[in-house]
Amino acid sequence: MPVLRFDNVSKQYPGGQQALSDVGFQVDAGEMLFVTGHSGAGKSTLLKLIHLAERPSRGAVLFDDRNLLRVRGRQVALHRRRVGVVFQDHRLLADRTVAENVGLPLLLQGLRRGEIAKRVRAVLDRVSLGTRATALPAQLSAGEQQRVGIARAIVSEPALLVADEPTGNLDPTLAAEIMALFESLPERGTSVLVASHDLALVKRMRKRVLVLDKGRLVDDIQPEDLAE
Ligand code: ADP
Ligand code: ADP
Repeated sequence: MPVLRFDNVSKQYPGGQQALSDVGFQVDAGEMLFVTGHSGAGKSTLLKLIHLAERPSRGAVLFDDRNLLRVRGRQVALHRRRVGVVFQDHRLLADRTVAENVGLPLLLQGLRRGEIAKRVRAVLDRVSLGTRATALPAQLSAGEQQRVGIARAIVSEPALLVADEPTGNLDPTLAAEIMALFESLPERGTSVLVASHDLALVKRMRKRVLVLDKGRLVDDIQPEDLAE
């Protein structure tokens, strides 16, 4: 059963920039895949259409078989619980602790304090930050900050996690750690879609790869075709 489907999706920004042209693909539940391409190829735009930061100009994005065009108003917040987002610059709140940053989505959902504390503790353990709950983001290393961003993105147990250049600011060792963390998510029921222009990193992961070039989906490479 597909969790996500793009049907002939095009995106033209106001001012005329054509960011995506007629893009179609689908992602099955439990899949992990990459989208790659040069800067400006349309990777960020593709992710933004999934978490409703942008809307397509033509075509349809379906999530859990539901056309996202119909998701409006209050339903946008509900949709965003089902799609976790990780940014390159992690976007943590500087004046909140690690635990507060991670618990924020649950607080906004109206969960009780005790329940939030329990779930935050569990997710921080999963990203190996169990001992850093009361630290402020500035007291953490870059890799730790990114793991907090991931914890915040998965604390609502989303059906899909989208990550935009999540290792762009990290050295190769930390990048590999973050990738291993992503790889562990599908077995817990979260599909993962990672945008990265780092082809070497993407190839090492041996997952399915969507290749964008100037807004067109020019390749959809299956893991078994990624030869040495
Ligand atoms: P990538 O993430 O692969 O670098 P983007 O999706 O950010 O690509 O950008 C695709 C194209 O759309 C680029 O030409 C970019 O300049 C343009 N673009 C992105 N965002 C906007 C925007 N908000 N307004 C106008 N053009 C944009
Ligand atoms: P990314 O590579 O992650 O898309 P950028 O630095 O290209 O990051 O873009 C940063 C922000 O500026 C994004 O929100 C994007 O939508 C917007 N943007 C990108 N290109 C353009 C553009 N040509 N005109 C207006 N906004 C743009």
